[in-house]
Amino acid sequence: MAYCPACKTEWEAPLRECPVCSGELTAEGEASGWTLLGTIRDKVSADFAQEVLSSYEIPAVVISKSGFFGQAGLTFNTFYKPGSSLFEISVPTEHVQEACEILTMAVGDNWQRKED
Ligand SMILES: [Zn+2]
Repeated sequence: MAYCPACKTEWEAPLRECPVCSGELTAEGEASGWTLLGTIRDKVSADFAQEVLSSYEIPAVVISKSGFFGQAGLTFNTFYKPGSSLFEISVPTEHVQEACEILTMAVGDNWQRKED
């Protein structure tokens, strides 16, 4: 069994690469080996961070938290202070330290490390 952290899919065959996204698959059971690194302020920075991390061969998953916006008649402004983070970024646990340094280099103040 193999697991794709990006697509959240499991594959029966002992594949090394995800047939859907060409991402690197992990052995089953390593799926929990991902750590939420922190939050990124805007989409441009999030895309850039992901791109830079991948150039260091660190896979990263970015989850948008802005899906709450745009629903007719509802405002969620009270949940979001100005400048609050809209994207969460996760990397494999073994890359946490390196990824933090890369993110600081790449997007600086536009990302914030999650406080433990
Ligand atoms: Zn995949």
